[in-house]
Amino acid sequence: MNAADDKTIVREYFNSTGFDRWRRIYGDGEVNKVQLDIRTGHQQTVDTVIGWLKDDNNLSQLTICDAGCGVGSLSIPLATEGAKVYASDISAKMVSEAQDRAALALKNTVNPDFTVQDLESLSGNYHTVICLDVLIHYPQEKADEMISHLCSLAQSRIMISFAPKTFFLSILKKIGTFFPGPSKTTRAYLHREADVVKILEKNGFKIQRKAMTRTRFYFSRLLEATR
Ligand code: SAM
Repeated sequence: MNAADDKTIVREYFNSTGFDRWRRIYGDGEVNKVQLDIRTGHQQTVDTVIGWLKDDNNLSQLTICDAGCGVGSLSIPLATEGAKVYASDISAKMVSEAQDRAALALKNTVNPDFTVQDLESLSGNYHTVICLDVLIHYPQEKADEMISHLCSLAQSRIMISFAPKTFFLSILKKIGTFFPGPSKTTRAYLHREADVVKILEKNGFKIQRKAMTRTRFYFSRLLEATR
């Protein structure tokens, strides 16, 4: 399968069965145990990012690009904290859900600024570029290109999370639960941390902070790099 196929499949998935599944996982309604575990894990990743940004005490002065924003789980709280957020996602359904949630949570419709766009075609310059749990949908070669492109958009900082390859054997089975059944499937790709770091460094970034979220069914390595 080539990378273009991966992208088409991912877009279709997050506009159909994937949308229904992830909208529920990233919500607060009733879900099954596995989904609840993934919800909890994902929230920890989001909380870590928000915690790091808040620690720096300058959120209201930052422009932030949230690439692959999903239903706005990160964008909405960051806008609430006063950052100027540019949020985008390849899936029109995810963006529409994010807009609905933002309208409920915030009193304006301009921040976050939402667009339906794949991250490869994003342009502009942002203080911080964040991309959470998106790389899992792409093989390393494609992920390298994506990370390099995200680096080109970032003035100072990039934060990126991915499922680390070290857990490959232990989560191989569990990954099946992320995307069950062939008709609902997108492939799940794991990435070696050293490969991600290498690409960040090649683009002039240096690792500053690292975190790992690990629940039963959710694994996410988070890296912050600056230049
Ligand atoms: N980052 C969000 C979060 O952590 O809440 C959503 C994570 S969700 C697992 C992955 C998201 O990435 C989906 O909303 C999907 O539509 C989006 N996505 C996948 N490939 C993308 C691409 N090439 N460009 C932009 N968004 C993409």
